[in-house]
This record gives sequence, structure tokens and C-alpha cells, in this order.
Amino acid sequence: MNNRQLFLQHVAQTSDAPLALEIVKAEGMYMWDADGKKYLDLIAGISVCNVGHCHPSVVKAIQDQAQQYMHLLVYGEFVQSPQVSFAKLLTDHLPENLNTVYFTNSGAEAVEGAMKLAKRYTGRTEIAAFNRSYHGSTQGALSILGDEFWRNAYRPLLPGIQHLTYNDYASLDLITERTAAVIAESVQAEGGVNVPQLEWIYALREKCTATGTLLVLDEIQCGLGRNGTLWAFEQLGIVPDILLLGKALGGGMPLGAFISSRDIMWTLTNNPVLGHITTFGGHPVNCAAGRAGFQALLDLDVVKDVKAKGQLFHQHLKHPKIKEVRSLGLMMAIELENFESNKKTIDYCIANGVLTDWFLFAPECMRIAPPLIITEEEIIAACKIICEGLDRL
Ligand code: PLP
Repeated sequence: MNNRQLFLQHVAQTSDAPLALEIVKAEGMYMWDADGKKYLDLIAGISVCNVGHCHPSVVKAIQDQAQQYMHLLVYGEFVQSPQVSFAKLLTDHLPENLNTVYFTNSGAEAVEGAMKLAKRYTGRTEIAAFNRSYHGSTQGALSILGDEFWRNAYRPLLPGIQHLTYNDYASLDLITERTAAVIAESVQAEGGVNVPQLEWIYALREKCTATGTLLVLDEIQCGLGRNGTLWAFEQLGIVPDILLLGKALGGGMPLGAFISSRDIMWTLTNNPVLGHITTFGGHPVNCAAGRAGFQALLDLDVVKDVKAKGQLFHQHLKHPKIKEVRSLGLMMAIELENFESNKKTIDYCIANGVLTDWFLFAPECMRIAPPLIITEEEIIAACKIICEGLDRL
């Protein structure tokens, strides 16, 4: 049997129609399959490879750290320099209150940690989150996920969850002194790129402050430069009490984080001690990779060009089959008539060497979230292929 057949037979499947491309190499903006075919990556492994695939300084950091030490002990006991220096670098680039980092294995684990932390810190049990938001696939994250179709099969889920509507003022009335935390994506990704109205998100921040509720911003998908600023909340004019990071955080390796103040985070240390336990969270090799990826993002100075690159996509995506293009920076949804039109166009793009995808809660929208290093020529070439695909509908 070849690798593709073995993949279908022995690797657990999450759908009956996986893309099943066999990629043998990836570098910068490109991937190559087993037949030598080259693909321009427009989705960056779902907002992971912000500085491109296999950035040389990330690869070197992994090699160097793997030669020093890999796993030593469960999270939190030993002083491990890759964790310490990455936490320091991150907090140097965050507001004063976001000064303490808990590293996790994944985005979903960061969400779980933040939910637990908010309950412990406030002594409350209710959590509010938003319709059309995605926060991960574990049971806590699934409980707050904003779409009943995806939640329903796993009930019973956590009690005490309120679902609010993004950009809706009336929803804010549901936040009360019983609410431990409101968890919101700074920009909703899987909902098909929904950007919050500035007055509304400000009102949300105010309501949380007034009720003593912690505001948790999930920037797992939109953080680390994707929206044109290092953190999306910089453009919203608010600061969260807890920030969630993942995806691009590890520079291509698995790493998440929930970040808060020392005062809030301290609750996890007592009564009971070890409030959140993880064996591999903050793995030294992954932290070394993440630190190198973050440093590369700063050194390449690409974030300042992200909005102009987004605009270039807009300019070259003029087509009668496109209903709307929604974006903030290089997080973009091209809305088509329905899933069928979208799927046909995606298939055409992949067949012609451009890798793209759809959104979980917006299957009629094509996802554009390339590595932030994409060039103008690559944007124009990608848009040409997308428009050719749309011509064939
Ligand atoms: N939050 C957001 C906004 C996400 O997009 C995702 C993953 O797509 C997650 C959380 C969960 O992250 P992970 O898949 O690493 O558990």
C-alpha cells in the first residue's frame, strides 16, 4: 500500500473527504507534494505559519534546543530558559497587566485554562461567549462554541454557559455579577471574519469592568500580526484581563498560552495547589521555536505591511460571483453564493497550485489567511487563479 492508502486505513479520519495531499516539503510561502507539484499556501496551516514554513531561525532554534534538552519535568517546576525568555519577550510586547504567561499544548487548552482561572479568581460559575465563535474542540471549549450544530452531539456539556450575539448591545444585558468571564474572539474567524464595531466592543469592556467579570480575548487565530497590528485588540482600543494565544505562537510547533496579571494567575497556585496541570505545556523545544518565530516576525517587520497586502487582495478580487469580501489585514473571507460554488472554486485553486479552504461556520466563504510574508506578485498571481476558478462556475 502507498502512503495515501495507509493514511486512509490507519490514521483516524475527521471527514470522509480529506484533502489527502501528500506534502513532502514546505518552505516560506510554498509546499511541494510527493509528485513534485508546488502549492502557494493561502491559509498558513490555518493561521499558523505567519513567518512562512520552516523559517531558518525557527529550524535552528529547534535543532539547538533539542541538543540541549527536551522534556524534563511537568510544567512549572524547573526554570527552563526557553520558556522564561519567551515569556519575557512576549510580555515586553504586551500591556502592563498581561505580565504572566501560562504556556499550554494547544489553543483549546489555553481556553480551558482561562475558563478555570476565571472561575477560581471570581468565585463565579457562569461563562458567556458568542454565537459563531470557535474556541476549540475539547469539552469546555466546545461548551462555549457558538454553533448548536457542532455542539449538539456532545451534550451534556458544561452548565452555566450563556451565548451572546456579536455586535449586539442587548446581549450585553446578559452579563451580570454572576458571570465569571466573557470569552470573545477579537475578530471572529470561523464565523467568516466578523470585525467588532468599536463602540460595541468598548461597551463590552465597560460592562465586564462594571460587573467584575473577566474579559478574555481569544487571539489564537487573529493575534501575532495577522490583522495588521501585533495584537488585534490594539485596533479595538481595549485591553483584556486574559489573552489567549496559540497557532502562530509556536512558530510551527504546538504551543498555546493564556496570559494575565500576576495577581489573577496566582489563584492557580493554592487551594487546591496545581490549579492547572500539564505534562508537555510549554515544551522547551516548542518555546524555543516560538521565541525564534516571534523574533523573526519582529525582525522581518512584516506586520506594518499586512493591511496594504490585504487591500491588494481586495483590488484583485473583483468578480461578479463574489458577494462580499470581509477582512482585517490578512484574515479574509470571500463570500460566494453557497458552499457548492465555494468548494468548486477551492478545488480549482488546489488543482492549479493555490491552497485555500472554507470556514467552519461560514462554508460559503473562502478563507484567505496566508503567511504574512506573501509578496505582491504572489497576491496578484493567487487572485488570478481564484478569479479563473470563479469564471468556471
Ligand atoms: N480559538 C480559535 C479562535 C481558533 O481558531 C482555534 C482553532 O482553530 C482554537 C481556539 C483552538 O485551537 P487548537 O486547535 O490549537 O486547540
